[in-house]
Amino acid sequence: MKFHFAKTEPFPGVSSTDWNAWNWQFRNGLSRAEDFSAHFALTSDELQALQTRSSFQVRSTPYYTALASRENPSDPIRQMILPRMHEFSGDGQQVSDPLGEVKHSPRPRLIHRYPDRVLFLVTDQCSLYCRYCLRKHFTGQEQAFIGSKDYTAALDYLRGARGVREVILSGGDPLTLADGRIEKLLGDLRAIEHIEIIRIGSRMPVVCPMRVTHDLVEIFRQAKPVYFMTHFNHPRELTFESAQALEKLVDHGVPVFNQMVLLNGINNHAALVQALSRRLLFLRVKPYYMFQCDPSPGSEHFRTSVEESLAIQRELWGRLSGLAMPNLSLDIPGGGGKVPLVPDFHIRAEGNVREFRGWDGQCGEYIRPREARAPEIGAYGDEWAAIQEQPYGTD
Ligand SMILES: *Cc1c(COP(=O)(O)O)cnc(C)c1O
Ligand code: SF4
Repeated sequence: MKFHFAKTEPFPGVSSTDWNAWNWQFRNGLSRAEDFSAHFALTSDELQALQTRSSFQVRSTPYYTALASRENPSDPIRQMILPRMHEFSGDGQQVSDPLGEVKHSPRPRLIHRYPDRVLFLVTDQCSLYCRYCLRKHFTGQEQAFIGSKDYTAALDYLRGARGVREVILSGGDPLTLADGRIEKLLGDLRAIEHIEIIRIGSRMPVVCPMRVTHDLVEIFRQAKPVYFMTHFNHPRELTFESAQALEKLVDHGVPVFNQMVLLNGINNHAALVQALSRRLLFLRVKPYYMFQCDPSPGSEHFRTSVEESLAIQRELWGRLSGLAMPNLSLDIPGGGGKVPLVPDFHIRAEGNVREFRGWDGQCGEYIRPREARAPEIGAYGDEWAAIQEQPYGTD
């Protein structure tokens, strides 16, 4: 079966030329209660939340807003756009910097938590402020592109951090920057000898797919290998326009991965995860992570329990192609890093025998072999030694 990706209807009175131009979408972003009341029959709770001053901004693109239901406040896309009074309740676990990023920041805008890869927060702006955002302490403070002093300091750090193989451009959304800035940034990173991989994290294929232009993907191709991480949470976000954006990336040699977040009352159902993952895979996008929602302030009503998430993953195990299966994972609050959550198939370990029960109930034993032998590592031993000695930071 082939999937149907529906075309999005522009707002009434907007020409398709304007609608399909990303700078029109940026300039006409919705942020005030008046903007939203023109497109939604707002509930009193939504209206009150829009009128309450929040430290975390509200913003959406016209394109993404057009995907949401005008009438139904439970609509999944509408819930990701519009604030609710729950956000201000102060309920449950609330951690301002749930990933402990501030303490792992050796320079402004850099987060160095793992030896071989560094997060580089190049801008704090997004064209949609997802209500459950994990980085609310940074995102949307309108500091925009990193200042030139911090930029030089960040590049100096990366040049000196010889254990770093991979730089992950994040934010904020790096694709809110102009092409010239992105091209310069990629060029500066490519000039650093030990950086092998550049990753770009962006929600733009979801919230403003017209941003993925031919010029932009050419810039990525020039800077190869560039990996693209996007963030679809619901099959309804996969429209004709977003499918085109994803195919354009892949056609230009940019591998695309998806990181979704399990969200209470939005996508916490195996059927939705399955539909999203199969459609993404059909578009040559690999479902990569399925995250527990982090306990950032005002996110309590979005979070699912670990038990519920594991049950969703267990339901899909074996029934969904391994290629389409995202890795369920949570970030340990406080900065402990990512932890994989995998259904437990191990039922017995005794002496040399381990017994497993598979996804459909069939059991079997795996018996430890008699002898362990190390392979000859030869010329590859240097890389291995470098990994083992890999320091954090500069040497
Ligand atoms: C998630 C994350 C990464 C990337 O981790 P992968 O498992 O390689 O995708 C790197 N740095 C930080 C700080 C992260 O939170
Ligand atoms: S796109 Fe990412 S950084 Fe921006 S608001 Fe959404 S979750 Fe936060």
